Formats: sequence, structure tokens, C-alpha cells
Amino acid sequence: MLLKDIMVDDFQYTAHELLLRNRSIVDLITKYQDSNARVNRSIIKAVTQCGCIKIDAKKQSFPEDGSLEEIRNVMATHLYGKLCDNCRDIIEREMGRNLFYLASICNTLDLNLYDIIIKENDRIKLLGKYNLR
Ligand SMILES: [Zn+2]
Repeated sequence: MLLKDIMVDDFQYTAHELLLRNRSIVDLITKYQDSNARVNRSIIKAVTQCGCIKIDAKKQSFPEDGSLEEIRNVMATHLYGKLCDNCRDIIEREMGRNLFYLASICNTLDLNLYDIIIKENDRIKLLGKYNLR
């Protein structure tokens, strides 16, 4: 295990130690959902209130028989600009809060967040371009 791997376990353990209220799975699920909405809201606020980033979206088409690299090159993020330090801080904080509740749900269900990351990493590597999400 590398230091960065230990960090995930440490984070999950700290979440376990610090979560005093809302220990119920029912509260955790709704808190997780709420924190997810706040992540999205913080990204949208960077667009509509700060203006450091801009969204300009349209329908995308990609070559069915293209390589992973070709598909990556034609698919747009629909995002323009760069996050300012303030918006970056806010988004990072909301994502951190979201991860806290995810780690807490893992604790309640006796799941290991690090194992989940490892399994998902293996899965997406295995599926490659057939795993277009
Ligand atoms: Zn900003």
C-alpha cells in the first residue's frame, strides 16, 4: 500500500470517528444526496454568479469505429474558461463534503472505500472504450 492509498483508509476512519449526528443510514443517504446537489450548485454558481467558466453545450457525435484517442479528441467538454481560486476552493470543499458522506455510508454498510476505488479502476481499465460513460 502506498501513502496515497493509506490516505483513503485514513479518511474513511476519520469520517467514522467524527460522524456523531446523522449516523442513521436514512440520514446519511439524504445528506449524501444533499451534498451531491451542493457540488453541482457550486459548479453552476461558477458559471452564473462568478463567470470564471462558461458552458456552451450542443449535441455531440462521435465516430463509432474510432479509436479511444480519436473519440476523446472529438468529444467536447462544453466548458470554457478556467476556475478562479475562489470557485475552485468552494467546489473542492463541496466535493470533500460529498466524499465524507460517501465514506460514512461505506462505514455504515461495512464497505471499504479504497477497495471500491481499486475495483472500479480495474473495471474501467478492463472495459476500455466499451465502457463509454
Ligand atoms: Zn470563479
